[in-house]
Amino acid sequence: MPAPGPATDTIAAISTPPGRGGIGIVRLSGPQAAAIAVQLVRLPGPLEHAHARLADVLDANIADEKRGDEATRIDEAIVTYFAAPRSYTAEDLVEIATHGSPVVLELLLRRSLELGARLAEPGEFTQRAFLSGRLDLTQAEAVRDLIEAQTLTQARQAASQMGGALSRRVAPVKQALVELVALLEAGIDFAEDDLEVTPGQEIARRIAALTPPLDALEASFARGRIVHDGLTLAIVGRPNAGKSSLFNRLVERDRAIVTATPGTTRDLVTERISIEGIPIELVDTAGLREGHRSSLDEAEQLGIARSREALADAALVLIVLDATQQLNDEEHRLLAAVAGRPAIVAVNKSDLLEKSKPEKSEPEETEIRETELERSDLTNPPRSENSLPAAYAKGPALNALIALPTSALTGEGIAALRERILALATGGAAAEPGMLTNLRQHQAVATALAALADAAKANAGGIPHEMILIDLYRALWALDSLTGQTTPDDILNLIFSTFCIGK
Ligand code: GDP
Repeated sequence: MPAPGPATDTIAAISTPPGRGGIGIVRLSGPQAAAIAVQLVRLPGPLEHAHARLADVLDANIADEKRGDEATRIDEAIVTYFAAPRSYTAEDLVEIATHGSPVVLELLLRRSLELGARLAEPGEFTQRAFLSGRLDLTQAEAVRDLIEAQTLTQARQAASQMGGALSRRVAPVKQALVELVALLEAGIDFAEDDLEVTPGQEIARRIAALTPPLDALEASFARGRIVHDGLTLAIVGRPNAGKSSLFNRLVERDRAIVTATPGTTRDLVTERISIEGIPIELVDTAGLREGHRSSLDEAEQLGIARSREALADAALVLIVLDATQQLNDEEHRLLAAVAGRPAIVAVNKSDLLEKSKPEKSEPEETEIRETELERSDLTNPPRSENSLPAAYAKGPALNALIALPTSALTGEGIAALRERILALATGGAAAEPGMLTNLRQHQAVATALAALADAAKANAGGIPHEMILIDLYRALWALDSLTGQTTPDDILNLIFSTFCIGK
């Protein structure tokens, strides 16, 4: 652990993103923050905690101006001072907000450094908040997550964690664990004084009581992780099944609010959508084609290879079948290949099947159907509506998969498809406060659970309490590392280095 206690140096950084903007902020934190700030800008009066002051930014230092040097006002600034410990970092902190001109901001930063500040490392302001004990590690991580949030749901999850939701969930478990450790320690220490050693049954009961809340916490990672990281959904199927059309349907609703990733290769088009705030990267693959390798040109083979890669990498797979076509060998293989993986089957072009119903056979619809049929391979007769479920029953791989009728044309089944994607993505886990959101947190809880299982086993085997205590301490350390109480320096540095500068 880095030495606790206040830092002795003062750090400075431009906290707003690089480039021009309406407003830019230079931030200073440390014992010299206020002393440096008053030399940077011309203030009408002394700085006061949590008060904003209008000030002039000059093209010379205040000291130089006072010596009689000519100084021109180049900008106006609002200077806000937060006195230790009532600031973000728990140190003296000053924020100087100017117009977002890189020239002005860089001038202020350069002068801060000349006046004794040091350039802040990425995440160093938050690291100081952590080191001063104002934030624990899960809260500090949440600051980064909030900044990086791409959907409102992600922001909500980060805000909840920043407010200490995860730490609050862990606290009672840790408390109970500490009590158990104390009990066993007392038993050992006072054994000679005839104090009754805690019976094995009581130890077993207490360990058993610790497990369910940790199990629930570990399970929360399923949803916490995907809200945090999002996931990839590969859309696969034969050419013309309607993959691109379904892709567009899924993207449609969110296009205005999510950032689009342009196609990364000639063959894979990816786009980020969000379903219930969960970011999902859709990958539209080139399509898996039937045919002998020799009959495909090099580009096509490459496309197929990329599709297979995308299929292998994706967390979820959406197989698009054409409702008017019989399953071909490639599709049988595909269905077998995704057995046991989270996959959804969309039986697309359901509108064409419905048109075979007598009450729906209006002239224009029949026309569309005929046009579509012309495009299909007529040697493969279209499935009748009745034969559809039978076709699924035939393929053993399909039994475990839920087939959804969809129509990219009419929009039928798209809402159900979204729901199904969401259910598969979250594993059915609902949103709850204090979810685990990253691997580090998950590992800490998994380690604690494994250590508790070892302790329970040792206890059941009648192993001396000293040995059980080793396992219990291991569980305790794991929970401590979750909130950062026992996290080694190098890991801390790694975590904070993933922050942006000025945060
Ligand atoms: P991909 O090759 O699998 O990406 O298929 P496309 O999305 O390019 O679609 C192939 C053809 O099928 C296009 O002419 C689409 O307009 C048509 N199509 C796609 N989905 C549907 C659907 O649900 N119903 C109907 N009738 N036509 C569809």
